[in-house]
Amino acid sequence: MIEPAASPPPTLRLTVDSEALAANWRALDALSGGADAGAAVKADAYGLGVDTCVPVLRDAGCRTFFVAHWSEVASVIRHVPGEQVAVLHGVLSEADCAYARATGAVPVINSLDQAGLWSATGGGRCHLMVDTGINRLGIALAEAGDQAVAALEIDILMSHLASADERTAMNRMQAELLSEAAEAIPHHRLSLANSAGIGLGEAFAFDLTRPGLALYGGVPRDELAGHIRPVAQVQAQLLQTRNLAPGEAVGYNATFIAPTHMRVGTVSIGYADGFLRARGPGNALFHQGRALPILGKVSMDMVVVDLAAGRDLAAGDWLNVPWNIADAAQQNALSAYELLTTIGARLRTR
Ligand SMILES: *Cc1c(COP(=O)(O)O)cnc(C)c1O
Repeated sequence: MIEPAASPPPTLRLTVDSEALAANWRALDALSGGADAGAAVKADAYGLGVDTCVPVLRDAGCRTFFVAHWSEVASVIRHVPGEQVAVLHGVLSEADCAYARATGAVPVINSLDQAGLWSATGGGRCHLMVDTGINRLGIALAEAGDQAVAALEIDILMSHLASADERTAMNRMQAELLSEAAEAIPHHRLSLANSAGIGLGEAFAFDLTRPGLALYGGVPRDELAGHIRPVAQVQAQLLQTRNLAPGEAVGYNATFIAPTHMRVGTVSIGYADGFLRARGPGNALFHQGRALPILGKVSMDMVVVDLAAGRDLAAGDWLNVPWNIADAAQQNALSAYELLTTIGARLRTR
């Protein structure tokens, strides 16, 4: 067998500011008032890496972690006890139920069928989602009195806000419907607010909040603005520089034509890394505050920038790739959520 050599340092990197992440959790926990804050760590902690983020959140004091899939449990329980992990998609098969019992991870039951399956396979502690208007997952309020629900041993009774980032009467209505459900369904803890929901105020916090986006630096409501620090920084290396004569083209389909002599640089990041084509022309990469506008189409592994403002730059220099998820210009094309969760695996290997 050939012993693989250690790979050289990568030409692009994602840095997670652990202190900012911990500070964001503590800020959201404090803003949750008497409630505790949990943490949504689904989608590999919104692209920033479970192995990086979960230990930081655990050490900051977080004791409840939310993932969507059973496939996400294994990486989280390397860092925290299974019983602290809640699986939002619930159980669809006996295999899901068996895996829950083997790992200690707790299903969020979403329907009467799921409730029946969980009980039939042995029951035990679970969480229950009640739909109060988003119509994705959860039992209907009218099903609250069903025997399948009565048979459950429910820790967290929860619902999910549809428009917490907006000022709308729907928020108050959803909170009232969850309170109604709480009267009909025995439970230990109540939970409603995501990141934006925490910004709505303590009346929405109940016993446990479930921030995701804001932990990682997103600011979905102005109320959170002074409390949340940026967490992710992405940088990529210049691979090559070149000079263009007037009329020469850049990239696939020659969508950029040099109007004059230009110095340009090819950078080691592309859409396979989550730098999607929507972030092409009109946006820029940066070097020490100098903007380097993007030219032509974003390729899979590369993007070309105008070096007019950085004539001193050469192959090997690191450029900052804006991953500022509060940036409005970027949000026109991509939401803050998409910006984070599309971060490619090549940026997460370190
Ligand atoms: C993803 C998710 C959250 C976290 O939402 P953010 O808007 O990222 O804070 C909370 N609750 C549920 C049910 C979720 O699916």
